[in-house]
Amino acid sequence: MLHWYEAERRDLPWRRTADPYRILVSEIMLQQTRVDTVIPRYEQFLARFPDLAALAAASLDDVLAEWSGLGYYRRARSLHAAARAIADEHGGEFPRQYTPLRALPGIGDYTAAAVAGIAFGEPHVGIDGNVSRVLCRYFGIAEAPTRVAVRRLLAAAAGSLLDDHAPGDVTQALMELGAQICTPRSPRCVDCPLLLRCVASADGTQELLPVRRKQTVVDVAEAAGVVERSGRFLLLRGQRPTVLADMWEFPTRDSRLREAVVAEDTVDPADDLRSYLAELGQGSVTLRHLGEIRHGITNRRIVCAVYRADAGPTGSEPVALSAKLGWFTPAEAARLPLAASAKRVFALLGVDA
Ligand code: SF4
Repeated sequence: MLHWYEAERRDLPWRRTADPYRILVSEIMLQQTRVDTVIPRYEQFLARFPDLAALAAASLDDVLAEWSGLGYYRRARSLHAAARAIADEHGGEFPRQYTPLRALPGIGDYTAAAVAGIAFGEPHVGIDGNVSRVLCRYFGIAEAPTRVAVRRLLAAAAGSLLDDHAPGDVTQALMELGAQICTPRSPRCVDCPLLLRCVASADGTQELLPVRRKQTVVDVAEAAGVVERSGRFLLLRGQRPTVLADMWEFPTRDSRLREAVVAEDTVDPADDLRSYLAELGQGSVTLRHLGEIRHGITNRRIVCAVYRADAGPTGSEPVALSAKLGWFTPAEAARLPLAASAKRVFALLGVDA
């Protein structure tokens, strides 16, 4: 496998460095995001925050703004929190071992093992989705890798591959194998360096492994309101306790889940939006339908109807508002950590943000 990796590996920017900071950034950015998408954003992120000290000194808002569009913003918060903890608690020196890396805020098993193995040669293999697929197939592990006991089994299985080999190379070779050969569908077993010893290939069970736990997709209908005053748009932050809590959004309500069983319980998001805008001090508004945007967050498939809200007589203050509220021009909004959906609403309006 290591010979194969040496010959076939893709030349990726984070493979040209031994700098633990750069490796950490790449490992966090690559979670849930495709390599092609990550490459330009990785370069851009490092141009803005070239080292750990620069990231630790930056505000969370600046980091979130730089992360904008990559999704899964918890990753950006984790990266920023980890950089600050290394600066404050470790005197700016990167911890080399798995245990202190794992103790950093927001750093999970995978990232700690990958950084310890790749940057410092510690005997740990980072087990991401690609690696766990290869291991489940190679060792014939027919249980869902999301289970804690199976994750432990995978860590032990990966450890058994290390022996005299560099852990970082083993991790990266397994990842590359999962990305190029042992793909989720139609793995190219004939080209695989593990073919002769692979249990799944011998059993013909490649396509059945790893065992998946089904995640239910939930359809959500939202309504977003565009309120404009003198070229400035009303945006809110923290209006919903979701993964988007740190991002600025247009006033948005979601209330009509397609899976809702009792029809009486469903509320038209537009009506809900009208009441919400009244709560936000916009008086009684008239909603004009502008279009729809479709997007997804984790397991939610969202259709968001966008309305221009022409405000009636205003003047009341927002009631019991826990969210932050502000009025921004599109240019000012572009400098905020802006939810991807808000960018698309601006696009629908024909303005860049
Ligand atoms: S032989 Fe096939 S199933 Fe086994 S590790 Fe290689 S590509 Fe995956």
